[in-house]
Amino acid sequence: MTINSVLGPINPDDLGFTLIHEHLSVGMPGWELDPDDCNRSDEISGAVDKMAEIMDLGVKSFVDPCPMELGRDPEFAAEVASRSGMQIVIATGLYNDALGIPMHFRLMDVDAIGEIYERELTEGIGETGIKAGIIKVATGGIPGFTEIGAGVTDAETKCLRAAAKAHKATGAPILCHNSEVEPYGREVLNVFDEEGVDFNKVLIGHACGVGDMRYYFDILDRGAWLGFDRFGIEAIASDKLRVASLCGLLAVGYDRIMLSHDALHCMRGRPGSGFSAMAEQSPNWNYAHICRNIIPQMRDAGVAQDKIDTLTVANPRNYFLRS
Ligand SMILES: [Zn+2]
Repeated sequence: MTINSVLGPINPDDLGFTLIHEHLSVGMPGWELDPDDCNRSDEISGAVDKMAEIMDLGVKSFVDPCPMELGRDPEFAAEVASRSGMQIVIATGLYNDALGIPMHFRLMDVDAIGEIYERELTEGIGETGIKAGIIKVATGGIPGFTEIGAGVTDAETKCLRAAAKAHKATGAPILCHNSEVEPYGREVLNVFDEEGVDFNKVLIGHACGVGDMRYYFDILDRGAWLGFDRFGIEAIASDKLRVASLCGLLAVGYDRIMLSHDALHCMRGRPGSGFSAMAEQSPNWNYAHICRNIIPQMRDAGVAQDKIDTLTVANPRNYFLRS
């Protein structure tokens, strides 16, 4: 089975070192109503430079799971891929109740949403002809902005079931955003279990800031993958916590984990103060941080190169392969 990159199919064996969760450009719902926006062509050139920087460090593939309603821009990604040579994969799928799922989709049933996801995976996104290669789902509130402790909401559950349908029709893997303060990885797997989803195709993301071994064991023992995919976001959790959790899991034999930063090159519209504050508190929040700083720290902690290759090369490949 091949993977849909923004420039066409690629073989899972050719993925190489993969950052499993990054973003080129994101716009919070409503950004298009803001008269102040970045210069899109300048931002594309800047992103091409950043791709060159991490390709020099050995990165070969870049998964951008921006949900449909958060300013996803397939043509931005395709131009960056063709000018830089980076293999870029983008997503279909909606975000969480707190920020996303526009009313148009709330009025649809599971089958209709799943059919749209499937079409984006098999025919392409809108009129672009660019196909999604992965399915995004999201749960959990946002501290300071939305209610915490609401559980997985009805609208989110509907999107989880729609993602399961599109996954079963296409074999595409599912990538899950979870909140660090109320991580619902177990509940998400319960829904996918009811839908008969293969857990080898499910990545429970944003786990690295949770710091709870019981949560990690529960997810990994059920056969799903863990995303340690927010390295550098010190505003949410320290990298020390992330590295300690990662090395602890590796020490007792768990290695179904993938690495990334959830970094962002361009925020559409004017950046809100919340985003700027988070970036200020997180000086290493960029696409190169794992290669430059985290992998050396893992080596210092005794992690062998073949284990680092497992996390960065073999695991993404095996996640994308149809099992
Ligand atoms: Zn993200």
